[in-house]
Amino acid sequence: MADAPITQDVMTIPRKLPEGPVNLVGLTRAGMREALIANGTPEKQAKMRVGQIWQWIYQWGVRDFAAMTNLSKAFRADLAEKFVIEIPEVVSKQVSEDGTRKWLVRIAGGHEVEVVYIPEDGRGTLCISSQVGCTLTCSFCHTGTQKLVRNLTAGEIVGQVMMARDDLDEWPVPGAPKDETRLLSNIVLMGMGEPLYNFENVRDAMKIAMDPEGIQLSRRRITLSTSGVVPEIARTAEEIGCQLAVSFHATTDEVRDTLVPINKRWNIEVLLDALRAYPKVSNSERITFEYVMLHGVNDSDADAHRLVKLIEGIPAKINLIPFNEWPGAPYTRSSNNRIRAFADIIYKAGYASPIRKPRGEDIMAACGQLKSATERARKSRKQIAADAGL
Ligand code: SAH
Ligand code: SF4
Repeated sequence: MADAPITQDVMTIPRKLPEGPVNLVGLTRAGMREALIANGTPEKQAKMRVGQIWQWIYQWGVRDFAAMTNLSKAFRADLAEKFVIEIPEVVSKQVSEDGTRKWLVRIAGGHEVEVVYIPEDGRGTLCISSQVGCTLTCSFCHTGTQKLVRNLTAGEIVGQVMMARDDLDEWPVPGAPKDETRLLSNIVLMGMGEPLYNFENVRDAMKIAMDPEGIQLSRRRITLSTSGVVPEIARTAEEIGCQLAVSFHATTDEVRDTLVPINKRWNIEVLLDALRAYPKVSNSERITFEYVMLHGVNDSDADAHRLVKLIEGIPAKINLIPFNEWPGAPYTRSSNNRIRAFADIIYKAGYASPIRKPRGEDIMAACGQLKSATERARKSRKQIAADAGL
């Protein structure tokens, strides 16, 4: 599997469907303006209308044009004819003993992706997906065993955030006192897919999530995780400016080539160069290095020492992830003692080295396990590929 070619076998779909009403969710402000003008809104009014509609959709969570009471009745009726406000549909929801929620949502074409909410001390992190499956074939990742079906649109990406706010009942009520507690306080792009292979849609969706007149999440509360798509890292700093996490996982090219095969294209040295430049350009504090602990593969003291040496000079935090096993996985999880010893070496070198607490294990909601049992129980891989025309 490690030798599988690195491809970007993505079936692109148009951002606007050629016929039928246009979905307003996922359009940037400029895109929404264009769409309104194309459908008859006078140019002079377009900017103001975008501002009004934007607030209804993203600040108040309104899905029905009829409820947009600061717009004339005629305009609302017109909008309802030409546009829709649509987000992915929830197919199923599971709640773990520890409060973690996992939803399976359906997107256009009948494909399904998973979204996970992890509560923590009155706040919580939403883990969202950027692709159905993944074209990369990291050997320890369950998502990587599944053939990519397609990129998600910007609307389907930000739609996951909106869906979660619906389910958490977290849209503010107009006129009510402002509630500062946010159940959904952080977003991580750590679900299914490689976000930097779907750059524009991820960027647009995150811009919408950050917009001060909408969902209003600070760019410091959004973390994008990449396996190391080097050319897009500088762009992420410039065009999104969110926090960056990188799936590092190994300290030699030899081992990283087998775990994260994209390393064959952009190796450790090239990746580190890109990471060194990131904090300055994005004005973010530090990079998170994700490191999955695999028994006997990448978890020795020598690895820990090498890791510290490699990242020298980069403001960093090392997030150690105990391997989440899945049926048929070719690895096992490092022992707790080994993980602690590894963490200790990194900590003593002056870096934060938190060990990620597995959450939602009883519902298979952990990193790298997504898109697992649910779809697999219904369809074989061959069937999925055939359905997708691959
Ligand atoms: N494609 C992106 C983001 C999604 S994966 C990336 O690779 O960074 C989110 C994180 O989970 C990554 O660090 C990934 O390497 C890790 N991961 C994947 N499978 C895992 C598993 N089975 N156990 C623990 N972590 C895993
Ligand atoms: Fe794709 Fe990330 Fe899984 Fe690698 S770890 S296969 S890049 S989702």
